[in-house]
Amino acid sequence: MSQRALVNVLGEKVHYQEIPSSLFDAYFSTQQQEVVPACVVLPGSAQDVSQAIKVITQHECIFAVKSGGHAMFTGASNAPEGITIDLRNLNSLQISDDRKITAIGSGNRWLNVYDYLDPFNVTVVGGRDVDVGVGGFLLGGGISFISRRHGWGLDNVYNYELVLANGSISIIHRASNPDLYWALRGGGKNFGIVTRFDMFTHVDTEMWGGVNILLLDDMHDRLAILGIPRKFEWTTTALIGKTAEYINKLICKVGYCISVDDVASMLGEIALEAENDIFAHAWAVPIFFSSSQTYLISAEMNHGKGVEGAPGFGALHRAKKVYKTNRVARTADFAREITTLNTGGRCSYETATFKLDADLQKDIMHIYIEETEKIRHLKHLLSSIPMQIITKAEIAHFLKNGSNCLGLDPGDGPLLLLETAMLWTDPKDDATVLQTSKNILDRSIALAKERGLHHPFLYQNYAGKRQDVFGSYGEKNLARLRKIRDEYDPDHVFTRLSPGYFNV
Ligand SMILES: Cc1cc2nc3c(=O)[nH]c(=O)nc-3n(C[C@H](O)[C@H](O)[C@H](O)COP(=O)(O)OP(=O)(O)OC[C@H]3O[C@@H](n4cnc5c(N)ncnc54)[C@H](O)[C@@H]3O)c2cc1C
Repeated sequence: MSQRALVNVLGEKVHYQEIPSSLFDAYFSTQQQEVVPACVVLPGSAQDVSQAIKVITQHECIFAVKSGGHAMFTGASNAPEGITIDLRNLNSLQISDDRKITAIGSGNRWLNVYDYLDPFNVTVVGGRDVDVGVGGFLLGGGISFISRRHGWGLDNVYNYELVLANGSISIIHRASNPDLYWALRGGGKNFGIVTRFDMFTHVDTEMWGGVNILLLDDMHDRLAILGIPRKFEWTTTALIGKTAEYINKLICKVGYCISVDDVASMLGEIALEAENDIFAHAWAVPIFFSSSQTYLISAEMNHGKGVEGAPGFGALHRAKKVYKTNRVARTADFAREITTLNTGGRCSYETATFKLDADLQKDIMHIYIEETEKIRHLKHLLSSIPMQIITKAEIAHFLKNGSNCLGLDPGDGPLLLLETAMLWTDPKDDATVLQTSKNILDRSIALAKERGLHHPFLYQNYAGKRQDVFGSYGEKNLARLRKIRDEYDPDHVFTRLSPGYFNV
């Protein structure tokens, strides 16, 4: 019934019955690719989106909206048995004559945006992976290579073109709609469908940096200290583990390794320096691969003035790497490189935030190792905990243009933004892997609470389905978000009928 109504107004832009499988390839996770919607709508304009929303509202249909499809859990941007509005054809790009603002259609991925802006020598606060979509990134937050200098993506939007629940199309600007403008800066999909983001541009500078891979030299001892030494048995897993341990030892002997403690203090050094040097950006990711039974550290260092090895990169810069791609290049080049390292599959992100503290980081590493060891036999498992820093200077940008709704104050920083990022292949392992992710976070949070080092903030773009993102913004902000939602979407179309992602 609703499909016929959609076809009546949007014709061939509606796909149902035989939906081309290529429409699902763009989802990053297998969980989202597996979803079977009743139909997929490919609007070509804000007017098309408006028509679709009117039909959805009239027929009370369940729906989801997709920009780049990088949200991971089932239904986040693909509606099981519902209507999926895929914005891929809203891909216009237009820089203003004075080159200060770029109008970006919300179906773009960052690759298109960076390629378009390159000849103008400007950039925007966009994704560090060029395949990520503009829509989810900007509505949830948006941490970029240049966020220390310019804030997160959501603090760099001048106007939003927004389709509201009643189908009206509005330009949301700070001066004309301060409430809605505030809510869209972190409030996700709860207020309407954004069809265009007008973003501030910034001069693009050459950066120094790249991907750095280091091995850990004290894993054997750590496991013994933690009371979980790997006992040798004649199993394939144990044989692979033993061989990998031997090779690891050889590489460490010639100085290509760091210790777990080095990783923890390295983040502290980076954080201290980053407060003074807004051009320095770095993060570290401890990763375990079950196929080789090894742990390693993948770290990214970038300096926005093209300076090799800023002082704050400390131990990370000094250590010998088994692999590194450090060079001077344009911002987009680094995002392209990261895309080649991020492979989809069955995957999940979850998150927690802490006050930055070297001892806590060490203990979180131990918790991560203990929990990962319990599932190290799983086939093609990648268990990792990306660790990033949110500096005071970075949070200070949140106050721009009337502030955003995330509920962070510069005085809260520097913060450790922790993520569990898991990748696996067998659907039978879904529950086990998600439980491991939960254990890592629950135990880390409990420890941090004991030490007064927990921060409630949950970053929407890294959060798992079970996490209360908007509750983490604080009672006052959540109440204000709900009041704004009630004013602009009194029937709660974007929460009630679009249940797949985080609701206010
Ligand atoms: C490989 C990878 C790399 C990443 N790198 C970064 C990074 O560098 N920095 C960072 O901050 N985050 C990063 N993320 C997280 C990423 O920002 C979030 O997953 C984000 O939601 C992805 O946006 P999307 O448009 O691709 O996703 P989608 O799945 O299309 O959308 C996510 C949510 O936003 C809603 N939405 C999307 N567009 C609109 C719109 N126009 N109007 C209304 N609602 C909309 C969708 O309905 C859905 O609920 C990364 C994620 C992955 C998987």
